[in-house]
Amino acid sequence: MENPFDTEERRAFRETVRRFVADEITPYADAWDEAGEIPWELHQKVGALGVFGFGMDERWGGLGFSDCFMQAAWAEELAQCGVGGVAAALGGRSISQHPIQDLANDDIRDRVLPEIISGRKASSLAITEPAGGSDVGGMKTTARREGGQYVINGQKTFITGGMKSDYFVVGARTAEGKLDGISLFFVEADAPGFSRTAIDRKMGWWCSDQATLYFEDCRIPADNLLGKEGQGFLAIVNNFNGERIGLIASMLGAMKLCLKESISWAMERETFGKPLIRHQVIRHKIADMSAKIDMVEAYLNQICWLVNEGRTPVAEISKAKFSASKALEFCASETMQILGGAGYLRGHPVERVYREVKVQAIGGGSEEIMRDLAVRQMGL
Ligand SMILES: Cc1cc2nc3c(=O)[nH]c(=O)nc-3n(C[C@H](O)[C@H](O)[C@H](O)COP(=O)(O)OP(=O)(O)OC[C@H]3O[C@@H](n4cnc5c(N)ncnc54)[C@H](O)[C@@H]3O)c2cc1C
Repeated sequence: MENPFDTEERRAFRETVRRFVADEITPYADAWDEAGEIPWELHQKVGALGVFGFGMDERWGGLGFSDCFMQAAWAEELAQCGVGGVAAALGGRSISQHPIQDLANDDIRDRVLPEIISGRKASSLAITEPAGGSDVGGMKTTARREGGQYVINGQKTFITGGMKSDYFVVGARTAEGKLDGISLFFVEADAPGFSRTAIDRKMGWWCSDQATLYFEDCRIPADNLLGKEGQGFLAIVNNFNGERIGLIASMLGAMKLCLKESISWAMERETFGKPLIRHQVIRHKIADMSAKIDMVEAYLNQICWLVNEGRTPVAEISKAKFSASKALEFCASETMQILGGAGYLRGHPVERVYREVKVQAIGGGSEEIMRDLAVRQMGL
């Protein structure tokens, strides 16, 4: 679909990342997923490509600018490798590096941001707890000030990259109160009292790790407080916007992959004496998929334009996120129908896309929470 906001530069960037994904990721992604991890060199190759540097200062190796269209193009093209775990394995840092840049002290920023942005090391965002992820303001992990330190107690779970990351942005309660009782902290994996275990046997995203993190009298320097005490909730919800835009773009990429696989199979496969593409029922499935893709793409372009204008379109982002996961669910299911038994085989990209719909309908703000937020933005 033509993007009215496209420019020469954005087209060139998309072409670069498309080639990168086709050469460096797609041929290996299925094997990585089966093996349960991506090679660490990929973090560094993607770092060298510059995509971890959007919105990050040049002082730490960032690009010194952000462009929502380019960031969305990266997520969309990457999703077309057909293995969502690759984006998840790389992406823990993109949801945690901005709070470090915006809220950490210079010592921390100078030391860790060049490592994260270059892909030499990784960082993760730790908000969700065993007792729940949707109710961010209800988190139970505590951080108590003791002299020059904070002492953290509690658990975080489902933390993407949690087993491999060296650095964590952790939400913890410093006082009672939903909105003003939460603070953010920078925690390093070698902090005393920190440990982690892997979450095994997931439905999808196999080549990315998720972990449960344990904080048992975990002591960190008081200077590791990110921003001010009690202002973590706002920082967390602001940070969600970028994560959600990335997920919408990823889902758009996965939908485009479904359509491509549907069309190529329908052109080739013959039933009842003619190619599937000549059966009206199949043609309608393709029309429906294509229309949903256009709608998500147009919505995403509009959101990117608003973001580039300096706005925070919370309502649009929430509505686009649940619309995209519903549209992806539809496309994945219809593509499986078009492929018949062939799509049911492990290793087929559509089998994986189908398994990976749910994590995108739940993670980063579930469909229910996105609808709730959208209605609240309507003042209701
Ligand atoms: C593979 C994977 C990777 C993840 N990575 C990270 C990560 O890196 N960092 C991180 O912090 N978290 C991460 N998460 C956690 C994710 O963000 C949460 O799973 C999500 O926020 C939902 O929280 P929950 O699973 O605890 O469900 P709950 O909050 O317990 O909710 C359960 C169900 O109830 C619904 N629900 C909740 N409240 C309401 C309501 N008021 N009205 C109607 N329905 C409601 C929810 O939509 C959901 O369907 C990850 C999750 C997965 C599966």
